[in-house]
Amino acid sequence: MPSVAQTEKFFPLADWGQLLAQSLRSSDELLAALELQPSDFAEGLSLAKQFPLLVPRPFVQRMAKGDPQDPLLLQVLPLAAEDQLHPGYSADPLGEQDTNVATGIIHKYHGRVLLLAASGCAINCRYCFRRHFPYSDNRLGRSQWQSALDYIAADSSISEVILSGGDPLMLQDAHLADLVEQLAQIPHVQRLRVHSRLPVVIAERLTDQLIELLTRTRLRSSLVLHVNHPQELSPLHAQRLAMMRQAGITLLNQTVLLKGVNDSAEVLIELSEKLFNHHLLPYYLHVLDRVQGAQHFDVSSAEAYTLYQQMLARLPGYLVPKLVREEAGQPHKTPLHAF
Ligand code: SF4
Repeated sequence: MPSVAQTEKFFPLADWGQLLAQSLRSSDELLAALELQPSDFAEGLSLAKQFPLLVPRPFVQRMAKGDPQDPLLLQVLPLAAEDQLHPGYSADPLGEQDTNVATGIIHKYHGRVLLLAASGCAINCRYCFRRHFPYSDNRLGRSQWQSALDYIAADSSISEVILSGGDPLMLQDAHLADLVEQLAQIPHVQRLRVHSRLPVVIAERLTDQLIELLTRTRLRSSLVLHVNHPQELSPLHAQRLAMMRQAGITLLNQTVLLKGVNDSAEVLIELSEKLFNHHLLPYYLHVLDRVQGAQHFDVSSAEAYTLYQQMLARLPGYLVPKLVREEAGQPHKTPLHAF
């Protein structure tokens, strides 16, 4: 098989930590970079201080200048609509605090647990269902890992550990390698899944060391990225993801259906095709979790189902993600079949 370097243009990797440190942290800074004014947003900007704007420069570079409706910009810009309270929208829409069974562990479903390996993210997505999650009570420093590992070791029904957060790839590779090694020492754990948006917003996070640590473990590894719009993917993603696929890592994607961002059949179809060209299979299309501050992104279940039907009619089955809603207390995600 030809190597990636032989088949695709090779891009050298910048230091992802430096790119992360250079992220934009205010609406003023972001609007200036995009040649926009606050007055371009009729509904106004949010002045709330909690869950502030955070966006890395490589993601900003994928936004169109001068377009207040840019689908990437709308995912990160705090609008005044976030400050309104709506019935049915809560701080903990998935009831995660009830399943937060040990520090750093969320145990919702049979056979698998979420390990909250890092409390921060590289980007603050305005629709995030964990935007109010008490990360400060779940900070897992190296010294606290043991309680999470003990929980997993004590339950032999757990065959898969999902590294989540925050964003687990905020950990340095050496730190992550240690954690993976300790998980691999638990005999009943067979699979490791990493859920991350960091490599979407900074493709340089897909380092050689990350590929190595996910392939040298005895655990079967998969990486689930979170891409919402085709504009988020770049040639560097294609190159790095090709290397991961060649190394034997299963690559999947989950998308959140967001009003004004990706709520059209054309965008969703283009996204599925582009994901495949970037070595990712569409896994889930989630309807919005009803978290306080995100109501303006909501697409109704009926509209979501219509979009899903259009995808079914125009894409091969393997490029149609499962359309699901997550509901507190349910033993699995709920497929949205008919309304
Ligand atoms: S990267 Fe994921 S966990 Fe972090 S804010 Fe965005 S959606 Fe939430």
